[in-house]
This record gives sequence, structure tokens and C-alpha cells, in this order.
Amino acid sequence: MEQMTLGNAQSDAGWEGPQSDSWPPVPSRAAGLERLAAFLAKGGRLYQTHRNTDRGEGRHSHVSALSPYLRHRMICETEVLEQILDQHSANDAFKFIQEVFWRSYWKGWLEHRSLLWPSHQRQLPRCVEYLQANSRCFDDYQRAIAGETSIAIFNEWCDELKRTGYLHNHARMWFASIWVFTLRLPWELGADFFVRHLLDGDPASNTLGWRWVAGLHTAGKTYLATPKNIRACAAERLAGRSDHELGLNQLASATFSVTDHLPANALQRTEIPWPAPEEKGCSDYRGNHGRTAVLVTEEDLTWLPSSAPDGVVVLSPSPRSALQACSGVVGNFVNAALDDARQRMAMQWKHGPVLTAPNTLDDEALLDWLVEQRMDEVVCAYLPMGPTRIRVERLCERLASKGIGLRIQMRDYDRFVWPHASKGFFQLGKRIPEFLDVMRLHEKS
Ligand SMILES: Cc1cc2nc3c(=O)[nH]c(=O)nc-3n(C[C@H](O)[C@H](O)[C@H](O)COP(=O)(O)OP(=O)(O)OC[C@H]3O[C@@H](n4cnc5c(N)ncnc54)[C@H](O)[C@@H]3O)c2cc1C
Repeated sequence: MEQMTLGNAQSDAGWEGPQSDSWPPVPSRAAGLERLAAFLAKGGRLYQTHRNTDRGEGRHSHVSALSPYLRHRMICETEVLEQILDQHSANDAFKFIQEVFWRSYWKGWLEHRSLLWPSHQRQLPRCVEYLQANSRCFDDYQRAIAGETSIAIFNEWCDELKRTGYLHNHARMWFASIWVFTLRLPWELGADFFVRHLLDGDPASNTLGWRWVAGLHTAGKTYLATPKNIRACAAERLAGRSDHELGLNQLASATFSVTDHLPANALQRTEIPWPAPEEKGCSDYRGNHGRTAVLVTEEDLTWLPSSAPDGVVVLSPSPRSALQACSGVVGNFVNAALDDARQRMAMQWKHGPVLTAPNTLDDEALLDWLVEQRMDEVVCAYLPMGPTRIRVERLCERLASKGIGLRIQMRDYDRFVWPHASKGFFQLGKRIPEFLDVMRLHEKS
């Protein structure tokens, strides 16, 4: 990455256009591809220059807002990278490419610490009990999630998050920092609040993003939201309002050391039995495995096996939090995204004898359908750590009791990148040119 030098910024001309008309995002792959196409021209130097600016709700035109699609793999990292490199040199698109790899870094890092997310979920009820034992803290928490604190700009971000399911990256950092260091609330409950309200709410990027802000990812490295930085990056949004009106005068001026309540083993590295490479072009695929159904989950809504299966079944959404259901905005998005995937899969093999289950199915209905359709095996895209993984691991035992096997296949992208995500981002980031090369993702010269 070091050899990718940064040049002068391009002019900002023509760089306008509030996006309120295109939000909330339409939960379909077609809409994701459209959003990508509309963003491509901005993914080079313009992104590099302006990406840190939080312009305010409906005006996030300096960033791609592709995260809800990437989160559920309605569009994939490889196609985003490929299309960006079609339009820009690797040098010009360096920052955007790096951000896409930040997502992969968090996913891979959590994969290497597979006990962290379940431990975090178990910790949540204890955090609530802790707050309830101290009514002042509990009131502070209630005010924070209601967007009724004395910090007006924090309340604004809270409201934007709840209504739109999106916040700019910097707003997420500021919000999390104020939550932890000014309001002195447990990071765990902040992360839980985010994951239930973000359309892109992700066990890896979100949990680890919060831990990074709180100084628990890189020991001793905390993130402090300062009035100066907020003023600089959200100037347009804050224009005409004083620090006092915005509540910026109330922000903590220093961080402190946050105690990690997760048990030590939650942070231990776990050995990952990476699944074997995909069976591309394997002619006896069906013969080998009997009657096979593809299991589609919200973790990957575009993965397809190399040859037509006998059936397709889509798993209903998994609860994102041990505490509460996710917001209606998120629920509607995920449900519709799953339905879009079901319809796309049905179209994919419309000429073959491929059965498609009529709706998204919960665990019981899924088992019944597989038995009714006399399936021998279920094949599924790799499930990264999170609620769907844990749910399918449990399902696996029940499938086995009915004589149905479960085979997991991993995308090559994850296989190449995730093994390098066990340490700091730098270790992974320096390999980006190598990853692009191996995946044949080259700029058009
Ligand atoms: C406290 C906190 C919580 C977060 N929670 C989530 C989450 O639940 N889900 C999520 O996808 N991202 C999360 N992020 C990362 C980041 O804020 C979002 O990915 C980004 O704001 C999405 O907007 P975008 O698509 O316009 O990003 P762009 O700037 O256009 O970036 C393109 C893509 O790169 C990836 N990306 C960009 N920045 C980051 C980053 N810092 N970390 C990981 N991936 C990144 C995303 O997939 C994004 O869609 C969190 C960050 C913080 C600080």
C-alpha cells in the first residue's frame, strides 16, 4: 500500500446532490448495483478528499452508502473492487479500496476470535442489570437511546440513526466516543443500540468499531471526539449553531481506561477450520451429494453453488441482539432483501427442476420442507461469526438427526483475505495489492 502515493485533490465541482430521494435504500441486488454504478465516478480522488465529511441526513453524497448491500452481500466486495478499478487507477481509488478491506479486516478478525461475539451477547443482560442498580445511570442510558440528552448534536445523530438506519462513519465514531467518554455508558449497550438500528448492522464491524473507539481493540488507543474535529468534518451540518447550542461544550476533554468485562478467553485466538475451496465445475456434484438444497441466509444473498441444486430455501432473519428486536427500518430491509434473493434464485434456475420454498422459513419450517422434499444435503455459503452462524450450528445437529448433511462453502475472497486479519489492520492492508493481483482485480490501463 505504501507505494500508492496520494496526489492533488480534484476539484469539487459538480459534487452536489442530496440523496434524500434515494433513501431508504431499496432492498434488492438491482438497486445495490444501481447505487454502485451511480457512485463509481466519485470513488477515486473525490472520495479520498471528502469522505470524512458528515453533511447531514439525506446529504451523504461524499460516501457510497453501499454498506447495507455489502453487509448482506447483495453485492460483493469483489464486484465493487472490480468496478472501481474499471474507472480509477489503484492509486486514485486507494482510500476507497482500503475502506472495503477494513470491512474484510473486521470480519476476519472476529473470525479469529470466535468466542468474542457470543460472550458479548451474554454480557448484555448483565450491563442492563448494572445500569438498573444505579438509577441515575439507567436514566442516562434511556435518555441516550431516546435522543434526549443535553447534547443536541448527539440527539440529532440518534434521531437520524433511528429513522434512516444509517450514520456517516465519522458520526458513528463521535457518537460512540460521546457515549463512552462523556455519558460514561457501557460500550456494550451502545454497540447493541447501533446493531439494532443500522441497516448495515454487523457483528464484526459494529462490535469491533465500538471496541476500537473505547480503546479495547488496540491497547491504550482510545478515540476522543473533540469539538474541533466535529466542527471541521461537519461544518455544513453545524453551520450557524454555537458550541453551546450543539452541546459541544459538554464533551469530555480526555478519555479514560475502559475496563473490558469480557472473559479473557473471549479474546483468545481460535483455530479456524477453513472449509475447502468451492467445487467449481465439478461435474459429479449432484451425484456425490444426493438431493441437495441451497440454504440462503442474510449473510450472503448472492452466493450460488457451481451447478444447479435440487432446491432453494431461504432462512428467515436472525435476531441481531440478545436484548431486543431490531428496528422496523432494519426488519423491513432484511425481510425484503431475503425475498429479493429468493426470487432471484428462482429465476436463476427457472429452466431446471429446481424447487424453491415459497417463503423465507424459520428453523421448524425449514426442517419440515427439507424432509418433505427428500433432501439429503444442504449447501450454504460460509457463515461468519454472528447470530445466523450460531443458529445454523444448532440446526446442523437437528438436520443430522434427519439424515441431512450440511456442507459449507467459502468464497475465495474470504479465503484469501481473512487469514491475514488476525493482527492489526496494517498487516492486512500492506497485502492489498497482492490480494487484488491474486483475484485478478486490475485497473484498466
Ligand atoms: C462505532 C462504529 C460502528 C460501526 N458499525 C458498522 C456496522 O455495523 N456495519 C458496517 O458495515 N460498518 C460499520 N462501521 C464502519 C463504517 O462506519 C461503515 O461501514 C460506513 O460508514 C458505511 O458507510 P458507506 O457505505 O457510505 O461507506 P464508504 O465510506 O462508502 O465505504 C465503502 C464500504 O467500505 C466499508 N467500510 C468503510 N469504512 C469502514 C470501516 N471503518 N469499517 C469497516 N468497513 C468499512 C463498508 O462496507 C462501506 O460500505 C462502524 C464504524 C464505527 C466507528
